[in-house]
Amino acid sequence: MVQDDVWQAVLGELEISVTRPAYLTYFKNTALLKAEDGQVIIGVTNVFVKETIEKKFNDLVLSTLKKQGIEVKEVVYKMIPSKMQKAPEEEFSETDDQEEERPEPRITTQTTSGRPTLNERYTFDNFVVGDGNELAFAACQAVAAQPGLKYNPLYLYGGVGIGKTHLIQAVGNGLQARNPDAKVLYIATEQFVREFVIALRARTTATFANHYRSADVLIVDDVQFLAGKDKIQEEFFHTFNTLHQANKQIIISSDKPPKDIAMLENRLKSRFAGGMSIDMQAPDFETRCAIIQTKAEANQVELEPEVVEYLASLVTSNVRELEGALNQLLAWCDVRSITPTVAIAASLLNVNKGRPKHLSAKQIIERTAKHFQVPLEDLVGPKRDKDIVVPRQVAMYILHEELRLSYPKIAHELGRKDHTTAMHSVRKIAQESQIDAGLRSAITEIKEQLYA
Ligand code: ADP
Ligand code: MG
Repeated sequence: MVQDDVWQAVLGELEISVTRPAYLTYFKNTALLKAEDGQVIIGVTNVFVKETIEKKFNDLVLSTLKKQGIEVKEVVYKMIPSKMQKAPEEEFSETDDQEEERPEPRITTQTTSGRPTLNERYTFDNFVVGDGNELAFAACQAVAAQPGLKYNPLYLYGGVGIGKTHLIQAVGNGLQARNPDAKVLYIATEQFVREFVIALRARTTATFANHYRSADVLIVDDVQFLAGKDKIQEEFFHTFNTLHQANKQIIISSDKPPKDIAMLENRLKSRFAGGMSIDMQAPDFETRCAIIQTKAEANQVELEPEVVEYLASLVTSNVRELEGALNQLLAWCDVRSITPTVAIAASLLNVNKGRPKHLSAKQIIERTAKHFQVPLEDLVGPKRDKDIVVPRQVAMYILHEELRLSYPKIAHELGRKDHTTAMHSVRKIAQESQIDAGLRSAITEIKEQLYA
């Protein structure tokens, strides 16, 4: 067998030995680089994956390799460049020997320690890596390994609920864990703005400034909220420069790239863009499935794959909403001590999308007949003319999509005996609607009217 085939076989085994999220996160993007004299070298794409496999899965990898008939004494994991070059690993060294007392800010959103803090919930470990976030993940890892030197500032941007806050806090948590004395400050921009306004009024801006300028790592979330606030931008500009010049790491998140933030001073835009900017995308279907599985597992619930896939197809762009949908489903089933199913998820979650609870097969068929202006009797009758057949197939397709009826049931609803007819029809419309815009818009219109 060639190396690639061997590794594919090993991956196949691993895929069934570990949980799906673990497989997707750690193994999916690995490669067998070399197998010689008992030494096997496996390529991995980031530090985190490397460390986790070494720590948790090394024995499993070893035994799986042996099962595939590979002579192996030792496995070495090597980083291979993926889309970006990774920073070398290096301990975070605290270089700030400042003797002077660091004044606490007088007014902040106080926690028990007197400072806004990181949320421990956000770690690299519980972040599922996939298309759309892997570059951001790798960059955050690099920064956590070597703060202040490589990507400074690190600027992540993208839509709502796709894991920006999670990742930038994970960097903070990682750094703080390694170096408990480091002053890692996390701040939501809105809070920064509020504090500044209060400091202005109380004439304590110097204290305010000192607080942030004495950070070893400053994490600023949702920086787009600086827009249009000139005085604060000025203050922030100086804070940024002070930290940057001292090689202190700055990490920023935003909903858009620096150049697109309206009413933001140009000098700030250019500072923000001066390090590494990364565009984060919503996770793809596979990653969404992995996220759901991870979160279900954290709740000690095992979900059927169909349920996972259903949720992942229901909520597509926002992980926070995805979590919300999952939690709702789990809670509903938990109080009733029942196992989550697609049907429960469908009825429960569609309600929230403003859909009627009991959309019936009859409504769908009637609405389809009306749309295509064919008599209802013909749609469910024996006629096989083309101008009847297509609307009939569309009705079957919508029954499948919206009600998740079984094929025999769909066939029955339209007066057919054979369920394979329904199967072919659904498939045909699914395919044709990909290329036929007219068909696609017909389906959309029918659905819109059904849910109107
Ligand atoms: P953003 O800051 O981009 O609006 P958050 O970081 O607040 O989004 O993410 C929203 C929720 O989704 C959080 O609870 C976060 O933990 C979770 N989340 C987002 N992406 C992932 C991921 N890839 N793996 C696990 N959880 C994720
Ligand atoms: Mg956020």
